[in-house]
Amino acid sequence: NNLKMHFPINKGIFSKQVGAVKAVDGVSFTVNKGETLGIVGESGCGKSTTARVIIRLLEATGGSVKLEGHELTNLNPKKMRELRKDIQMVFQDPFASLNPRWTVQRTLMEPMKVYGIGNKSERKRKVGELLNQVGLDESYAKRHAHEFSGGQRQRIGIARALVLNPKLIIADEPVSALDISVQSQVINLMQDMQQEYDLTYLFITHDLSVVEHIADKIAVMYLGKIVELADKEKIFDNPLHPYTEALISAAPEVNALEKKERIVLGGDVPSPANPPNGCPFHTRCHKAMDICKQEVPEFKEISDGQLTACHLY
Ligand code: SF4
Ligand code: MG
Repeated sequence: NNLKMHFPINKGIFSKQVGAVKAVDGVSFTVNKGETLGIVGESGCGKSTTARVIIRLLEATGGSVKLEGHELTNLNPKKMRELRKDIQMVFQDPFASLNPRWTVQRTLMEPMKVYGIGNKSERKRKVGELLNQVGLDESYAKRHAHEFSGGQRQRIGIARALVLNPKLIIADEPVSALDISVQSQVINLMQDMQQEYDLTYLFITHDLSVVEHIADKIAVMYLGKIVELADKEKIFDNPLHPYTEALISAAPEVNALEKKERIVLGGDVPSPANPPNGCPFHTRCHKAMDICKQEVPEFKEISDGQLTACHLY
């Protein structure tokens, strides 16, 4: 609720704060148990920072995060460590940050060891079980990360996320580095695991055609704010915000049937250190009006469960 991550900008020898990069600026949403919320937007919109704040890799500068009613933002380290088990992440390349000398088995056993779950043979059994579930077999346990293809690595990344029986998985661009054909396999696997383990997903991607398959609800982010939030069907059938419209028109698979004219977004996302006045999207909006340069549009419900921040409504 109203989550904020403002990074101070300091200048001079006394490090006087002269401004702030508002990477996440008042983000609010709810994900129900068993649901998938897709967070979409171009890079630099604050999606990954939102994930990092939720999981407390970064300390929020404002707002609140609750997991099943438990406030996470002010928990002491001991309690956070307990709850941290319930939230796991899947990254774009799960092995980028890992010890390349570790076997898959060690990689998957380590979290259980850290949390004191099971004895050695129980942990080994769990690793074998998980490897089978993610479509690899137990023979992979003795091998190292560099021996695997991107798709196999991501299967292992998913297995690693599942080792501690989490409630929520935050996946940050989990298929963006994979070939299109492999992307759908990994998404299917994530859907199977969601059923199997009753998981809740926060699925972050810059690619709307990816969340089309997996999301129940979609939040569209731009410059640190959610500009549209609704059920997936509403987002695709009747996008309200011009930014959502542009993203959909640029997703080839999604747009293939309707053959709508592609809306080309000019330029990049402006710097969050110096966002435009008024509507933050006005510098790139194909429907911008005079008022858009002056007044910040309020984020509000336009029709049943569909919220947006735009002066058109
Ligand atoms: Fe475009 Fe104006 Fe709506 Fe912003 S408020 S998205 S500039 S029409
Ligand atoms: Mg990112």
